[in-house]
Amino acid sequence: MLRTIAAFDRIGEENAFAVLARANALAAQGRDIINLGIGQPDFRTPDFIVEAAVKALRDGHHGYTPANGIPPLREAVAADLAKRFKVEVSPDSVMIMPGGKPTMFMSILMFGEPGAEIMYPDPGFPIYRSMIEFTGAKPVPVPIREENAFAFSAEETLKLITPRTRLLILNSPANPTGGVTPKSEVDKLIAGLEKWPDVAIMSDEIYDHMVYDGETHVCLLSYQSIRDRLILLNGWSKTYAMTGWRLGYAVWPGKLYDYARKLAVNLHSCVNASAQYAGLAALKGSQDEVRKMVAEFDKRRKVVVEGLNKLPGVSCATPKGAFYAFPNVKRTGWKAKALASALLEDAGVAIIGGPDFGILGEGYVRLSYANSTENILKALDRMGEFLSNRKAA
Ligand code: PLP
Repeated sequence: MLRTIAAFDRIGEENAFAVLARANALAAQGRDIINLGIGQPDFRTPDFIVEAAVKALRDGHHGYTPANGIPPLREAVAADLAKRFKVEVSPDSVMIMPGGKPTMFMSILMFGEPGAEIMYPDPGFPIYRSMIEFTGAKPVPVPIREENAFAFSAEETLKLITPRTRLLILNSPANPTGGVTPKSEVDKLIAGLEKWPDVAIMSDEIYDHMVYDGETHVCLLSYQSIRDRLILLNGWSKTYAMTGWRLGYAVWPGKLYDYARKLAVNLHSCVNASAQYAGLAALKGSQDEVRKMVAEFDKRRKVVVEGLNKLPGVSCATPKGAFYAFPNVKRTGWKAKALASALLEDAGVAIIGGPDFGILGEGYVRLSYANSTENILKALDRMGEFLSNRKAA
């Protein structure tokens, strides 16, 4: 009998990948499936970025790079943050990572152990809780409520902090809700955190380019009072349609940087060299493609919200960021996961049940509108027909 550690009985996963596999299996059987499940842009990576990777390989960038990333890329990340948010970041605190996820993995690993508490948004990205459980720390959900436009409540968050809290995970713009926490609320939260100087903060800002209705993204790096304990998670996956490249970055404070660098050396040595050159081209090149993609998401957002609000038993608040809608389906009489599953099997529409993002996700489903308007409209039609004709199971 192999004796693996008990932590592996506790680790979770992301059901969006299981739904994707099921949707692909049904499509392979010839079914017409519309996938509003997985959270990845339906656009191609802009050509000039792809060309930069090809060129890097042709130029002989085949070898290991420094574990923390090639210096010009770390400098470009620092310059990009300075330009967009007027924050000063040393390239020496920037680490290039193989995607956004490894930053949550590493930071939860740094702070999680039995007896420790880690706070995370619920509903929220499922890997936060999974990793917290893996480390043996106590997961403390921070409720993210529809009544609060799916923003963090500073008051509610601060009340949940205890002397055992080691790490607070924040995510705005948010997956799965599309919620954006307004600056006034972030200000309150940061002010309150001054009373808790031993609590580290990991801010997952992977959707920072995708904010709508004239909102501006609030980057937590702009709060000096928490800079010595703030970990920033970001990357290229969503902004530049680069999910499969596995390219992300983190800004680590103080000694955490060296811990993360050592973890990288132990784990992956360095990020794929050509992907790093692609990332460099992405940051240094024209941002027109990004603007176009975001404008297109904005258009689809309106289509999806309007369509959802016409469905029987469904109401959908307008998401202010990312590319997700998180409609309330309580009045349909369906449990959210049963509804998502029946919609995929019977109506050929892949979406994700809210409980896959936490206990407070019951009564909601997540639709990713990273799909064409035509497909979104078709999916909404199918959902309407399904809800009008099928009784809740
Ligand atoms: N953080 C959030 C909130 C996400 O939604 C995702 C991807 O869905 C990630 C991080 C992970 O990004 P990556 O694919 O770069 O690992």
